[in-house]
Amino acid sequence: ADIYGPSRRNPPGRDYSLVEARGLAAKTAVLTAGERETSGAIIRGRLIAAASDPVTSPADRGRVIGYASTATPADIDRAIAAARAAQPGWNRLGGAGRAAVLRAMGDALEAEMDPLIALLSLEAGKTLNDGVAEVREAVDFCRYYADLAERQFGAPTILPGPVGETNQLELAGRGVFACISPWNFPLAIFTGQIAAALAAGNAVLAKPAEQTPLVAARAVRLFHKAGLDPDLLALLPGDGATVGGAIVNHPGIDGVAFTGGTETAWAINRQLAARNGPIIPFIAETGGLNGMFVDTTALREQVVDDVVLSAFGSAGQRCSALRLLFVPHDSADELVATLKGAMEALVIGDPADPATDVGPVIDAEAKAALAAHRERLSREAVILHECAAPEGGDFFAPLMAEIPAADYLEREVFGPILHIVRYDPADLAKVAGRLAARGYGLTLGVHSRIERFAEEVRELVPAGNVYVNRSIIGAVVGVQPFGGEGLSGTGPKAGGPHALLRYATERALSVNI
Ligand code: NAP
Repeated sequence: ADIYGPSRRNPPGRDYSLVEARGLAAKTAVLTAGERETSGAIIRGRLIAAASDPVTSPADRGRVIGYASTATPADIDRAIAAARAAQPGWNRLGGAGRAAVLRAMGDALEAEMDPLIALLSLEAGKTLNDGVAEVREAVDFCRYYADLAERQFGAPTILPGPVGETNQLELAGRGVFACISPWNFPLAIFTGQIAAALAAGNAVLAKPAEQTPLVAARAVRLFHKAGLDPDLLALLPGDGATVGGAIVNHPGIDGVAFTGGTETAWAINRQLAARNGPIIPFIAETGGLNGMFVDTTALREQVVDDVVLSAFGSAGQRCSALRLLFVPHDSADELVATLKGAMEALVIGDPADPATDVGPVIDAEAKAALAAHRERLSREAVILHECAAPEGGDFFAPLMAEIPAADYLEREVFGPILHIVRYDPADLAKVAGRLAARGYGLTLGVHSRIERFAEEVRELVPAGNVYVNRSIIGAVVGVQPFGGEGLSGTGPKAGGPHALLRYATERALSVNI
């Protein structure tokens, strides 16, 4: 396989329609995982302070699933000192040596799949199927970046030169990378950022989202157990502005990899700009205002399946999730009616129940923001359908509303709310232009049997990941390299062949004899 398709073994999934798989994840692991989970600053392989703050489940706030503590400024200094000392040796180890550790991590994650699924369900409210996909993605990142490390960080590239002169270019780690991650993929994105930074020869300080410190601690312990020198990876949990801000401002970091909201990326960018000292790279993967355009040739049943999955799967808490569905006037009533039927069939509830389609949103704050948006829609737009949410827990029922145009939404609405825009095909350019003008560029969907229609939509709405006649979520590592443009991020794409390059520095060497 060439660089665009490194070989890798996909870990097997779980089929929860089978009794054994249900027993494994839903009973044993989900019920027992919580008790032993602790998180806090992990430096040089040790949990620094007793984990004291209870972490509860979004599906049931009365359920304590573990305890976490917050990193202090002194922890950050110590973690950076250890990382700086260990990084040159790790860089010298070369791509193949680092790949071996990353592959061991992939195997370790695979071996722990069931307890990890359980913890994802408990801490992040993930359905079991989302948990399976997330663990598999984390494994894929480790194995894919191991392959890239081997290929791209092996021998230097030999370049031409005059007789008597040799020229070469090599890639090297930059130093210490800060990896700041969101709660919505607390294992896959958390692990993916770390694996990329490590593969390129860096040490890492990992700052997980406040809502998901337990999954993060488990992943860090697994990295260490898999053979990574503990000095190369520290966990520094805590509040974004305080702990994240202190890491970003620290003169001892050489790069920042961030995934989260666009507004947070702006804040970090401003902080980095205000630093005096080395100018360091900032990799940002941010939010989207993702649209799907349907024309009259689209197959209605297929559209409905893909829309329901894209808009309401993972409770709409994916950066790639569908927010705006553009439907031609002529077929809108029928499509909306079928969508209502499909929404009625959604099972909303306990994420650990294999039958559940939609679990809770992440916390009360997220729920309140969605409720405020619903309130606005009920005043100014037309609510077409709304599911019922269970009592208790941070649940928000999937909702579909009709709005006049894309620019009714100023920014990403992060949850299970689908906005429908009816359009006249003669006005496609104008309608799509109003979406493009919002400035995001993450995912885009098209449902049509006419190739030219898909091309036209692609030209009108720039996006990093375009999906034709399928759902717009679930990018696979090495298959759909993932990441946006504009307000949606800087690239390089996660899970793509160029992913490691911005984590590295390039060094040219010219020798005359
Ligand atoms: P967020 O609020 O932006 O937080 C992301 C991370 O940044 C968290 O660890 C957060 O810490 C930290 N943070 C906040 N303020 C900071 C600061 N001033 N300095 C340094 N770090 C800071 O995002 P989220 O709510 O966790 O995640 C949802 C967002 O992520 C959505 O917008 C979604 O679209 C986006 N996302 C994008 C992608 C992609 O690949 N493009 C993938 C997944 C998610 P605390 O949480 O502890 O405050």
